[in-house]
Amino acid sequence: MSLFEKEFEDYFKKKKIKFKRNDRSLPGTPDFSFQNGAIVLFLHGCYWHGHNCKEWKLDNIWRSRISVTASKDIKIREQYLEQGIKYIRCWECEYKKNKDAQFKKIEYILSRY
Ligand SMILES: [Zn+2]
Repeated sequence: MSLFEKEFEDYFKKKKIKFKRNDRSLPGTPDFSFQNGAIVLFLHGCYWHGHNCKEWKLDNIWRSRISVTASKDIKIREQYLEQGIKYIRCWECEYKKNKDAQFKKIEYILSRY
């Protein structure tokens, strides 16, 4: 488990928010899911998921690997939208910039369901 995941897990525990980790019955195995799969949270590392926040120096092999991951991510998101499941994505860079804002955002969404 990465620090990124661990910090979220600790936060949810502290807030007594019930979650499920890596539920394989859901598309793409979300990092966290809530309320019996009504809400899913994906934590995306910027490098692996090809975030456009940086000019990544990649060779062609990595470039194609990461573009496969990015197109998978899009398909997974579409599946959730079709099923009416709330999809939340958190980019690593946004999280590092302001952890509190990301936690608050997720808490707000959870409170509305
Ligand atoms: Zn990023």
